[in-house]
Amino acid sequence: MKVRVLGCSGGIGARARTTSFLVDHDILLDSGTGVEDLSVEELAAIDHVFLTHSHLDHVAALPLLVDSVGGLRARPIVVHALPETIAALKAHIFNWVIWPDFTEIPHYDRPWMVFEPLSIGSIVELGGRWVRSLAASHTVPALAFHAYTEQAGLVFSGDTGPNDDFWRQVNGVPNLKYLIIETAFANRDQDLAMTAKHLFPIQLGQELAKLQRDPEILITHLKPSDRETIAREVGAWAGRFTPKMLERGDVLEL
Ligand SMILES: [Zn+2]
Ligand SMILES: [Zn+2]
Repeated sequence: MKVRVLGCSGGIGARARTTSFLVDHDILLDSGTGVEDLSVEELAAIDHVFLTHSHLDHVAALPLLVDSVGGLRARPIVVHALPETIAALKAHIFNWVIWPDFTEIPHYDRPWMVFEPLSIGSIVELGGRWVRSLAASHTVPALAFHAYTEQAGLVFSGDTGPNDDFWRQVNGVPNLKYLIIETAFANRDQDLAMTAKHLFPIQLGQELAKLQRDPEILITHLKPSDRETIAREVGAWAGRFTPKMLERGDVLEL
């Protein structure tokens, strides 16, 4: 399994793109603005989209993706998400006001997009690759994902604040090669981070202290305007770990 980082920024501007990871050629984990750099052929090959939560930086490219390639595909794109996320997308995006409802286009019995509900602990198997949904703790219902093969796996935290349930699950993962975890804000913005249920470097250090495995730690969702500060503070507060800042274009081999 190969995971290509299409976007891992907490914002846009210059080369910054928001959260999206392409697993092999056919599975997306989140659908942020990084998706928009793919070719039409690459977009048309995406069969499954897993969404951590409903926030715009994680779903922004989904409406345009479905519209751009729906007519080129023989099967609908399957969007896997929590029921609350699906309800939010239906109410606020695919509502015929912001965008058409592609679960009824071109016809409700052969749509370009279908929704599949996820729950914490659910596992979806896709040809020798598995995506398991883990608990996240954010301002809206949210998931983390454990994507794995028989050989190795990665965990992607999604957007989250502190969360003991998450670490209990992560500590039970065998062959954990990568942990992609968010640190959205610098320490000076910790009040804002706590209100928005994101991590900041001091808190990341406290969370990593609960990790009993030894994966490579990759930091995502840094605010683009504060990238250097957050990276420096992560280095100072990460304890026994040496996290790397994830970069758009990185490829993770599993
Ligand atoms: Zn969010
Ligand atoms: Zn986000």
